[in-house]
Amino acid sequence: MSLELIKPKEKKTCYFCSQAAKEIDYKEVDILKRFLSAAYKIKKRKHTGLCSFHQRKFARAVKRARQMALLPYLP
Ligand SMILES: [Zn+2]
Repeated sequence: MSLELIKPKEKKTCYFCSQAAKEIDYKEVDILKRFLSAAYKIKKRKHTGLCSFHQRKFARAVKRARQMALLPYLP
């Protein structure tokens, strides 16, 4: 089987990489909310389309925002 038959996966670019963000601010709730489910759960990387580096930073930012009562734990 030649390699051309394998469909190249659509390349998703990480939102934070496109913004050239090194740190994710937990105070930017509107941006964080984009990557949360309707139940305010942290979405999997597959669904957020973030790179592993930013997914980790994002998860930490969400947890921090919850602690600071900027984001709810439950809807
Ligand atoms: Zn990224």
